[in-house]
Amino acid sequence: MIRKEKILLGLSLAAVLTLVYQWGLSDGKQGSGFDLIEEAIAAEGPGRSSPVSARKRDFYAPNSEDLAPDEMRLIACGTGMPTARPKQAASCWLLELGNGDKFIFDAGTGSAERISALQIPYNYLDKVFLSHLHTDHFGDLDALFVGGALSGRQKPLRVWGPSGDTPERGTKYALDHLYKALTWDLDGRKGITDPRGYVPFEVTEFDYKGVNQVIYQENGVTIRTIPAIHALDGPVSFILEWNGLKFVFGGDTYPNKWYAEYAKDADLAIHECFITVPGLIEKFKFTPQGALDVGTQVHTSPEAFGKMMSIVKPRMAIAYHFFNDWDTAPDINQRIRSTYDGPLALSTDYMVWNVTKDSIRVRMAAVDEDVWPPQPSEEPLVPDPSLKVPFSDFIANGKYDMKDVIQPVYDEVNKEYDLNVKQP
Ligand SMILES: [Zn+2]
Ligand SMILES: [Zn+2]
Repeated sequence: MIRKEKILLGLSLAAVLTLVYQWGLSDGKQGSGFDLIEEAIAAEGPGRSSPVSARKRDFYAPNSEDLAPDEMRLIACGTGMPTARPKQAASCWLLELGNGDKFIFDAGTGSAERISALQIPYNYLDKVFLSHLHTDHFGDLDALFVGGALSGRQKPLRVWGPSGDTPERGTKYALDHLYKALTWDLDGRKGITDPRGYVPFEVTEFDYKGVNQVIYQENGVTIRTIPAIHALDGPVSFILEWNGLKFVFGGDTYPNKWYAEYAKDADLAIHECFITVPGLIEKFKFTPQGALDVGTQVHTSPEAFGKMMSIVKPRMAIAYHFFNDWDTAPDINQRIRSTYDGPLALSTDYMVWNVTKDSIRVRMAAVDEDVWPPQPSEEPLVPDPSLKVPFSDFIANGKYDMKDVIQPVYDEVNKEYDLNVKQP
């Protein structure tokens, strides 16, 4: 039998992309579809170039590349600030490993939309690690939770987060109450959708004072935490190790001794790098006093970020938590470069890092704004209408009679799927 990818050799990139989408090639566990585009490009051969055929690309197209068994891929799904803006959601990082595992670090405001653009079946997006409980680090957890359950996450959402200095400042308290805040939303979905993803968050709250403490160990992946110094007691950073690769995600912090010690020699070291103090005053309209405090004491200034990276010496340093624009990036870069001269990425949303022991490739993802959720990885359950919470008589009696125009829709679907669903 001729394998379908062979048929595609020599087709144009657009045609290949169209076929990839039509066939819905998606395997969240392996983080890959067939490597159609690479094969099509390879068919062009070295040194050849044609105006009508695909050439090597410099962007990452979600759901189009295999991840090698020894490779990790990091995608920035939020690099910005608490203040919403279209270009940058707030802190969120998706890490995919060659063993099929996927981890979300932070779920800041606006980030669920970025995650959706990656076309990963939601069953594989069930592990979230929160650095702290500022909304720019967990403000889209509700969107990921409800939207994911609606579109193929058929299991609980697992969340790891730090304790606080009081129970009310811990992750468990925050998520128990977030779940309660969703009472109306969740009750209204009963009997209408597959219920398995809407069960309460599975929260693992760990000691925020733990130093290099193991909080996760599954499938060859170990995740440890170290404390951070930011706003109140509670924030942490994460260190993930797998297959000889080390990934560090730093939450908000004043530069701290634990990061200096335990992030050493990371392959990728993410650390916050805040807007410059003059930038806070001029563009964010902070008072000079407020800008000095927020820009150097509550957060890490670019100069301090650079000093930290000179100590840690990662294979690549990744800076985030600033509005990354043409008029802010040069100054931030210059200030970092006054204290650090190693490999550096000033991150923005949809930046992608492919990491193996031999190489680190940095690109931008080119995403489809018209994206739909991918095929669920398992069959959905048929909803049980007896679980529906009924309307009051007052509201139910307000229904205008539309049965005559709705019945043909029932007829159409019953015929197509060989069913006998009755209109209520
Ligand atoms: Zn914060
Ligand atoms: Zn923050």
